This record gives sequence, structure tokens and C-alpha cells, in this order.
Amino acid sequence: MGTFVVCKITNKHRNEATNFKILLFFALLKKLKSMIWNESYECMGREEMREVQNKRLRTTVEHVYHNSPFYRAKMQELGITPMDIETIDDLVKLPFTIKTDLRDQYPFGLFSVPMSEIVRLHASSGTTGKPIVAGYTRKDLSTWSEVLARTFTSGGCSRNDIFQIAYGYGLFTGGLGAHYGAENIGASVIPISAGNTEKQIQLMTDFGSTALCCTPSYALYLGEAVEDKGVKDKLKLKVGFFGAEPWTEAMRFEIEKKLNIKAYDIFGLTEVIGPGVSYECNAQKGMHINEDHFLPEIINPVTLEPVAPGEVGELVLTTITKEGMPVIRYRTKDLTRLMYEPCSCGRTSVRMHKIMGRSDDMLIIRGVNVFPTQIESVLMEFGETAPHYHLYVDRENNTDTFDVHVEVRPENFTDDMSSMLNLRKRIEARIQSVVGIHAHVKLVEPRSIERSTGKAQRVTDKRNLYKE
Ligand code: ADP
Ligand code: ZN
Repeated sequence: MGTFVVCKITNKHRNEATNFKILLFFALLKKLKSMIWNESYECMGREEMREVQNKRLRTTVEHVYHNSPFYRAKMQELGITPMDIETIDDLVKLPFTIKTDLRDQYPFGLFSVPMSEIVRLHASSGTTGKPIVAGYTRKDLSTWSEVLARTFTSGGCSRNDIFQIAYGYGLFTGGLGAHYGAENIGASVIPISAGNTEKQIQLMTDFGSTALCCTPSYALYLGEAVEDKGVKDKLKLKVGFFGAEPWTEAMRFEIEKKLNIKAYDIFGLTEVIGPGVSYECNAQKGMHINEDHFLPEIINPVTLEPVAPGEVGELVLTTITKEGMPVIRYRTKDLTRLMYEPCSCGRTSVRMHKIMGRSDDMLIIRGVNVFPTQIESVLMEFGETAPHYHLYVDRENNTDTFDVHVEVRPENFTDDMSSMLNLRKRIEARIQSVVGIHAHVKLVEPRSIERSTGKAQRVTDKRNLYKE
């Protein structure tokens, strides 16, 4: 009898446990679904997605061939017409586009619609003084806020959240991009822009911000300021969306600890749309690419041939819904790899690994793209300096430091402090105006910078931002 009772109780418990597990499973499924903004696209079957991509690619190629003299000429050079592009497998027949193409077509040469249809312009720094310009039609802006709505929903946000947008507003795509995405999900948006840390923290506590959008380095900076002020307990923050520059898992850990949030990586670039090209889900195993808008390829940056599936190489993106400024096989120079395995979040889209490096020498300093060649050309403008320089980038108190050491020509090198100071100030002002950030210039003696016998090593970047 006693055994029987025990058995009965155990069975009852087992049933209850099973029921509980089933309930938990459905609750989890419901929660996961509620973290997906556009299930029909984000969870679309692979075959169906391929059909969507084929169709959209054909439309895009037709569009640029007929409306962009730049792309038409490039295609004609290769002897191809839109008839040659039937499926996404034909993508490899199309020409690549690179940053200098955009610079050479400055300002609007790559626009594929009349200016009357462009409703927004953004810009990012290019390889020389001229910025890269992007133009958006109304539809492009709605695509942009769609992909960011997916991003924010995937981080668990909804209309019940209060978004503090601390990316810079203006020509930079970060601020306004995140702004419209957050409005799209119905969240309450605080368009505070970057900087003014005191005010950030004040509004964060007074308004009860629950989501933060900014660069990861600024998030760390804010985290430290919050610690210093001892207001961590007053924060209602639960999540942050950080991108526009590389960051490591160690930084993620620090940010999450300091602000007591979950930190998500988001990726994008002005040429393609801005932030929103890809985003992390709660599994945080790579960023899901919005493949119904942007087609990814990974190529070997030297041979320009596609790498084997899953291998690391340079990310190439083709926009397949953009109207204003579609880009065809745009070489991002960002190194990553694609992951095709299904994700536990239920999304079916391919994921890209956190950015692992660059195939060119572009530096991202305080969120601004900086090319050593830009600095070189500024230095060359000054007759007093020699073409020997070295750039030092580091991070102190979570802020990037940027030091430019340049040799003064022997005939110009003097002990007269005021004339040296004057030269230094002029160079710093010129770098600020051309590149858009402040560099600390140090004038050094003739022949003090190490000469190289091979390819000159002109940059020391101690930040190790691409390390795991
Ligand atoms: P954004 O406004 O997104 O910063 P930019 O065009 O100014 O766009 O810069 C784009 C470049 O910034 C990318 O090509 C990449 O090198 C870098 N970047 C953007 N987001 C990330 C990220 N999440 N991780 C690493 N690098 C990133
Ligand atoms: Zn996922």
C-alpha cells in the first residue's frame, strides 16, 4: 500500500512536471515570437527567401541599368545586361563597387532616381577629404525603419520602452537611423544625441530610459560615469544596441556589468543604408542579416573570388530593395564569416560573425572613419613637415586617443617654442576640419621616426578591438 501511494504521488508529480514543461515551452515560444517584428520575412523558408531575393535582385539590376549611368557603363564594360541576371547565383557576374567609386561620383553620381524623389541625405567620411553621400527615397527610409524595428524587437523591446538615442544626430546615420526604428516599434524616443554625459545620466534616471543606443565605447564611458555618480540602482535600463565601431566580447561583458543591461551588437554602413544591415538576436551567436534587403557574399579580398561557405573573408553587400542609391556588390572591407546553421531564436536568415577586422587600413576613432592617407595628405599640405609620420591610437578611460607624430624638416626645426606651437595648432586645426576629429599632434625631430625598408608601418593601434 505504502509503495503504491508513493508511486501515485510520483506519477502525479511527473504529470504535473510534464504539464509545467509543456506550458513553459509554449510560454517560451510565445515570448520568442513576441521578439520577432516581421515573422513572415525573418522566419521565411530558405526556398521562399531565395525566390524573393531572385526577384528583388532582377528588379534592382533593371533599375540601376536604366537609371544609373555609372552602373550601366560598368555592366557594359563587362558585356552584361539585366538579361544575364536571373537568380542570385548570377550575382558573381556583376561588377564590384568600392568606396572610391562613391568618392569619384561625389556628391550624387550614384543616385538612381531624380533628386525630387530623394527625401534625405546622409554622409560618412571617405578615403580623402570628400565624404561619401547617401540619398534615400521615402521607401528607403521606410525600409530603414523596418530593419531597425526588427533589430530592437529582437532585443526584447516594444512600445513599452523608452529609448535614449545617444548616437550622434546629423549627417552620421546612427542617430536618425535608430530614432525612426525606435519610433516604428512605438517606443518613446529621447533624441538626446551623443555627448553631454551629465545630461545623459540625468535623463536616463529622471525619464527612466529602458533602452540605450550609442557606440560601445560611449556606452562604457557612460557606464563608468554611472558608477562614479553611484546612480546604478536608479537606472531602469535593461538593454542597449551598440555598433558603428568594432568592440570585443570583453567590452560587452564590461558594459553589461556596468549598466546592468543586455548589450546587443548592430552592424551597418552608410553606403548600404546605415545601421540595420544585421542585428543580434537573444542567442547572440552572430548577427542576422536582413537578407530580404541586403544580399551578403564573402570574398577573398586578394583574389576577389567567393570563399568556401563559412570561411572568413571580406563582406560584400548588394542592396535589393533600395531605390535612391542602390549598391551593387559593395566591398565593405569588413572581415567576417557567414553562418548558415539554423538559429535557436527561430529566425531563418543567415548570420554574420562579429566583425573580425578590416581588409584595408581604415581606423574607426571615436566612431569616425579615419584613413591614414587622409592624415598624410593633410600633413603634406604643410611645407614645414617631412613625409615621415606615425599614428598612435589607443583607448584611455574608454575614450579613443589619437596622436599624430610628424617630423619637422631640418630647416624648419627650431628651439623657438612659439613657432613650433603655432605649427602644431595649425596642423591640428586642419586635421579637425578635414577628418572631423581632434588629433593630438606632436612635432618630432628630423630623422627620429623609424624608416622602413618595406611597406611602411605607419599606424600603431593598441586597442585590439578585433580580438575575441
Ligand atoms: P555607421 O554609421 O554604421 O558607423 P559608417 O559608414 O560611418 O556607418 O561606418 C561603417 C563602418 O563602421 C563599417 O564598414 C564597419 O567597419 C564599422 N562598423 C559599423 N558597425 C559595426 C559593428 N557593429 N562592429 C564592427 N564594426 C562596425
Ligand atoms: Zn537568432
